[in-house]
Amino acid sequence: MFDYLIVGAGFAGCVLAERLAVGSNKRVLICEKRSHIGGNAYDCYDDDGLLIHRYGPHIFHTNSADIFDYLSRFTGWRPYEHRVLASVDGQLVPIPINLDTVNRLYGLTLTSFEIEAFFARVAEKIDHVRTSEDVVVSKVGRELYEKFFRGYTRKQWGLDPSELDASVTARVPTRTNRDDRYFTDTYQAMPLHGYTRMFERMLAHPNIKVMLNTDYREIVELIPWTDMIYTGPIDAFFDHIYGKLPYRSLEFRHQTMPESSVQAVGTVNFPNEHAYTRITEFKHLTGQEHARTSVVYEYPRPDGDPYYPVPRPENAAIYEKYRELANATPHVHFVGRLATYRYYNMDQVVAQALKLYAGLCANDAEGAPDARSIRHAIARDVGGDRVHREPGR
Ligand code: FAD
Ligand code: UDP
Repeated sequence: MFDYLIVGAGFAGCVLAERLAVGSNKRVLICEKRSHIGGNAYDCYDDDGLLIHRYGPHIFHTNSADIFDYLSRFTGWRPYEHRVLASVDGQLVPIPINLDTVNRLYGLTLTSFEIEAFFARVAEKIDHVRTSEDVVVSKVGRELYEKFFRGYTRKQWGLDPSELDASVTARVPTRTNRDDRYFTDTYQAMPLHGYTRMFERMLAHPNIKVMLNTDYREIVELIPWTDMIYTGPIDAFFDHIYGKLPYRSLEFRHQTMPESSVQAVGTVNFPNEHAYTRITEFKHLTGQEHARTSVVYEYPRPDGDPYYPVPRPENAAIYEKYRELANATPHVHFVGRLATYRYYNMDQVVAQALKLYAGLCANDAEGAPDARSIRHAIARDVGGDRVHREPGR
């Protein structure tokens, strides 16, 4: 008899399994339909012994000391600041757009002060910033928008930026200084021995049983459990009763090269050329020393494994219906990027999972004493989110 059946062994599932087993002495079965743990953050060694991320580049970054400390229980870290170049007009220039980007692209020598005036001159005035187009053109104008964002976004999402919520392109800031880091979070680091090793340590507890290669539907009626934590796509859980929620997919083409390095930075973006959006060379991320190198090309696809929720109003409306159904489903808790249909980074998923755990503890007389302080600290640092089924029996 299990206290919890956890569906999916990604960040959301592993954090909850660890907390419930270690923090609350619950018996947990974690069931994963893939052949490995880790969800989309899974990494492994390829045939040449190079550490790669099978589902595309995963760079850990957070402003939350609590999240970083929590994960530090299971891994050491390698400091790493991600840098990205975009191939535009025959040059490789920094993205996010910064002072050097504009100067190199236009052969200028603007200072930080002058570039503010430059942006003010080219920016379009938009009263209500609503879409992913609005966000960019209202900051850097139409020309830079077209060079850096329009083509990339159309390729990545199969939609024009004007059809996507502002939050999508708002992930990429604009800078007036020369900072060329992709992220500016306080904590930026990669798990020292990889994500998979970290997940293995999270799940290494006698109260946790892991079942791979198993869709939960194969066992849900066979194995007794009290509560379920579900981290898969929410529409699939309810048999798509309100229609399919769109999730964008990718095809990852991995390639090992004989050279020791092939590009200057971790990722090169291709907004306007090629069918792929970006190439990532893993050695920059992992710091691995090796005579050869391994890269991944990302080709956006409409169908396939669900990787990205698609943030736009009509999808939010469909999700809302599923969320209501989820709220009315006792003993099942929905958490994670697919189950709450949110374009979340890893740290946000960890925060959401810890928050759900704190809620479960609050409803449980045997709950862990540190739950409330974790919940408050995380809500402060990572930005609020709702966990969609607070336990209430
Ligand atoms: P997932 O990792 O998707 O885990 C859900 C698991 O549930 C999966 O393993 C799935 O197989 C399993 N499952 C689904 N249905 C069933 C079923 N019926 N039965 C059994 N198991 C099931 N975040 C960052 O912070 N930094 C990055 O650099 C970054 N890069 C990314 C790059 C790409 C290409 C992608 C796609 C995402 C990236 N992310 C990044 C986001 C990150 O992957 C997610 O935030 C995080 O992995 C989500 O964890 P999760 O547990 O919610 O979901
Ligand atoms: N984007 C873009 N050009 C770029 C980088 C990003 O148009 O060079 C847009 C695109 O819509 C992308 C979104 O900004 O999907 C978010 O970018 P991010 O790098 O955060 O995407 P992720 O790593 O989550 O795929």
